[in-house]
Amino acid sequence: MALGDRHQKKDVEAALKRAEAAGLKVRHDKNKHRWGWVLCCPCNDQTVVYCTPRNTGDEAKKINEFVRNHQRCV
Ligand SMILES: [Zn+2]
Repeated sequence: MALGDRHQKKDVEAALKRAEAAGLKVRHDKNKHRWGWVLCCPCNDQTVVYCTPRNTGDEAKKINEFVRNHQRCV
């Protein structure tokens, strides 16, 4: 991720860092309340990331689960 693409919520930012470290792609594509995506290129799956999730813990958990499901793909 380029500088300035950080997520404002620390929990979510940490989860995005883990996703990148696992080899998944993090795309910052802000549109209204959407922050961007976490993508798994090999199987073409993706999960949306919100800017201001109601519960940052849940949002981070969703990303962590996605990473767990897809770290074997990359
Ligand atoms: Zn995958």
